[in-house]
Amino acid sequence: MSTQNPVFIPGPTNIPEVLRRAVDMPTIDHRSPLFGKILHPALAGVKKVLKATQAQVFVFPSTGTGGWETAITNVLSPGDKVLATRNGMFSHRWIDMCQRHGLDVTVVKQDWGDGVPAHRFEEVLTADREHQIEAVLATHNETATGVRSDIAAVRQALDTAKHPALLFVDGVSSIGSMDFRMDEWGVDVAVAGSQKGFMLPPGLAIVGFSPRAVAAAETATLPRTFFDIRDMAKSYASGGFPYTPPVGLLNGLRLATEMLLEEGLENVFSRHHRIAEGVRKAVAAWGLQLCAVRPELYSDTVSAIRVPPGFDANKVVAQALNPYGVAFGTGLGDVAGKVFRIGHLGSLTDVMALSGIAAAEMAMVDLGIPVKLGSGVAAAQEHYRLSVGAVQKKAA
Ligand SMILES: *Cc1c(COP(=O)(O)O)cnc(C)c1O
Repeated sequence: MSTQNPVFIPGPTNIPEVLRRAVDMPTIDHRSPLFGKILHPALAGVKKVLKATQAQVFVFPSTGTGGWETAITNVLSPGDKVLATRNGMFSHRWIDMCQRHGLDVTVVKQDWGDGVPAHRFEEVLTADREHQIEAVLATHNETATGVRSDIAAVRQALDTAKHPALLFVDGVSSIGSMDFRMDEWGVDVAVAGSQKGFMLPPGLAIVGFSPRAVAAAETATLPRTFFDIRDMAKSYASGGFPYTPPVGLLNGLRLATEMLLEEGLENVFSRHHRIAEGVRKAVAAWGLQLCAVRPELYSDTVSAIRVPPGFDANKVVAQALNPYGVAFGTGLGDVAGKVFRIGHLGSLTDVMALSGIAAAEMAMVDLGIPVKLGSGVAAAQEHYRLSVGAVQKKAA
């Protein structure tokens, strides 16, 4: 692949030059006051991005997967009951992690391409009269299928069932790109990573804990050392870290949150929506279908696109990579070979998106998939020129 082209994998995302520079730092003494000047603004910035006022934010040298482990090991105990659904590769992996930690997971069946079934959750929670379920897991944006679930509806399910279980949300591919409301949705643990909406290299697990989740860490008995939020909290209070911190990445996080807040979160979300809509217009112009089964599920950060029967989606990804030097996401798990994914999150412009749509078109035409060169690009161009405000301004 060419490093001159933007990537269209749904993470890691493109890194803005200013963030690359912020990450590239000389060694500092992480026990000096200088470190606190990087750490604390980074934590405060994340809290704003999460739309959280009560939560405590913790950052570990890890990835989103480490964030999942932080959530479960700090709040739960062996044998605890957990409610989840499996609607894609990422929700599947989080369930698998819970099982490997000796948790008792009730898995509500769901089709890949559909969202978290809040109504089914409500039934299960209502039936659990003794309140044995300790936690409900929800993947806000299932990156494997390009499906965004309604977390407010999951919160509503808990409230309607009058169930006290804690709500854990995987927001790895949504936080910082799509609206996320930790306070309003009553999220107890929110999980993110550095390499998606935060536009940084991989290497950080970023988690927000509600006061209830923080309190649960005092009695939870799953083994934890590296990911213990109590050690983190104690060290943060003195401006430090319980072990050697990834200073450059934290400095990047400080600046990334500043950039997101300066653009304005609502503007960041509408930019993602506009870019995603352009991709969806292209998909429609190609005559292809998304994996997401209903418009309200369409993700603004990743589109999983079904190739026509008889074609192999992995070949589209391979053909885009060579000769064109452009990276798309392959299909994972149940949808391997059936879909390819265009990631459109993080640092991206309309014009960058057009280049990805053009490359996907070339790769598909090369393979004999019946799409017309330029059709998707034209549909997206039309959407971008109308939605960016250029046309209205001229008329005024
Ligand atoms: C990327 C991703 C993860 C896993 O993140 P890693 O950083 O690869 O550990 C988890 N959940 C979702 C929804 C993701 O998109």
